Amino acid sequence: MFDKVLIANRGEIALRIQRACKELGIATVAVHSTADADAMHVRLADESVCIGPPPAAESYLNIPRLLAACEITGADAVHPGYGFLSENARFAEILEEHQITFIGPTSEHIRIMGDKIEAKETAKRLGIPVVPGSDGAVGSETEAMKVAKGMGFPVLIKATAGGGGRGMKVAHTAADLGLALSTARSEAKAAFGNDAVYIEKYLQKPRHIEVQVFGDGQGNAIHLGERDCSLQRRHQKILEEAPSPALNAAARAKIGETVAEAMRKLKYRGAGTVEFLFEDGEFYFIEMNTRLQVEHPVTEAITGIDLVLEQIRIAAGGSLSIKQKDVQFSGHAIECRINAENPRTFRPSPGQITYWHPPGGLGVRVDSGVYQGYRIPPYYDSLIGKLIVHGKTRTECLMRLKRALSEFVIDGIETTIPLFNELIAQPDIANGAYDIHWLEKYLAQS
Ligand code: ADP
Repeated sequence: MFDKVLIANRGEIALRIQRACKELGIATVAVHSTADADAMHVRLADESVCIGPPPAAESYLNIPRLLAACEITGADAVHPGYGFLSENARFAEILEEHQITFIGPTSEHIRIMGDKIEAKETAKRLGIPVVPGSDGAVGSETEAMKVAKGMGFPVLIKATAGGGGRGMKVAHTAADLGLALSTARSEAKAAFGNDAVYIEKYLQKPRHIEVQVFGDGQGNAIHLGERDCSLQRRHQKILEEAPSPALNAAARAKIGETVAEAMRKLKYRGAGTVEFLFEDGEFYFIEMNTRLQVEHPVTEAITGIDLVLEQIRIAAGGSLSIKQKDVQFSGHAIECRINAENPRTFRPSPGQITYWHPPGGLGVRVDSGVYQGYRIPPYYDSLIGKLIVHGKTRTECLMRLKRALSEFVIDGIETTIPLFNELIAQPDIANGAYDIHWLEKYLAQS
């Protein structure tokens, strides 16, 4: 097992990883920008290193500075969390070259899955169903038109290097295609420095369902069921639940086994999430995330498995701690992302938290890195916490969520809490009858 883990992240996920390390008796190193000197992940770590000024490019994304922090502290492993360098193959490779363990998959698997076209081709080869679309990147508008007409409109233009919903544009008709193509390309170029795009059939009423997997890198892999992340705005998740209200046990076992088998063939190591769109009973692969996800706690709630602990054990050369037949799903869990944002416009609302009272009680978990008096810096993601509730049934879970939200008080900034209060009162949410377009339509109408 490792002696010391450096956590190359901030906020709630840095704390989440620290907690797992502490339970394993591993010393922790926090890194932080000057804007995060008083952050909770810094206060609670065994050691901390300031790695630069506020902009992420000069701190949390700066590989030489992170390497220096490893060297100074003698850390023997790095946990990247999510976002930042968690899916940067070069970072994983450089750490390997320095005999520091990257807590995640091999750099080769990160690279394959980081390129959406290569990921799709790999998924197809491994027997995973994919969204119909172009064979690889599209060049000219003429070529794009041929592919789109062959498939039928609407189509979605997606960036090969895409992430965070950027570089994605819908063309509803042939007349929209030219503009969608050029906007997607320029957005992709600006965000990822790569303007390659491909085309997919635009699904009209799918759910977003993703399967959590774990592999040991030796050809053994299990799945931990699915999460339903269909409540989204601007292609970004806001509320997630497990299990999906749209699947029964047989459908769950079938897609789970398909994904686990693919991961065995790939000899995948560590935690991963295979994301699908699900429409009319069919699954369509969209991408694989080769890291821990924001919404991992709903899986932890229904399986009782600590996903971060499992990641660390596997990275240290251990085998999977559980067999597929021993994975038991119990009850229902929902996570709400508490963002420092206006609940209607989603405009960031950084500033000082003047009062902070998180909810508690049976089946309630709050993962957050903030505290009363804390000043949220304007430089990073607006996620300030996650409320996760667990109940024996979905109905009990929703009752508990309503109660927990009513206890949650955050003053001084705007948050997404009022939106969740509204959403859980909607019959479609209560009935689990929503797709990925539901929230956008709701916001446009209300
Ligand atoms: P990113 O990596 O940018 O998050 P994804 O490929 O994971 O992009 O897609 C993000 C979201 O965009 C999905 O959850 C879904 O809401 C929407 N989306 C992606 N592909 C399609 C598609 N072919 N049809 C309809 N919606 C899609």
